[in-house]
Amino acid sequence: MNNFGFCVECGKVKENKQISHCNECHSRHREVFHEIKLYLMKYPSATAMDIANNTNVKVEQVMHFIRDGKIHVKF
Ligand SMILES: [Zn+2]
Repeated sequence: MNNFGFCVECGKVKENKQISHCNECHSRHREVFHEIKLYLMKYPSATAMDIANNTNVKVEQVMHFIRDGKIHVKF
């Protein structure tokens, strides 16, 4: 068994099967996550829609972080 898999987001081959995303998507997520965190610091009562409307982050990505339990926002 090799240790390769496919990124769930862009479909590129990734080196580590244990993670769901390739390095590229992973580092982009970190930037996006940082942006969301900064926004939530300023506006702690923001909803997922507020975040999407006021940052460059798509609402689906915001939802993704919420589902993963990485951020906690109201709906
Ligand atoms: Zn990827």
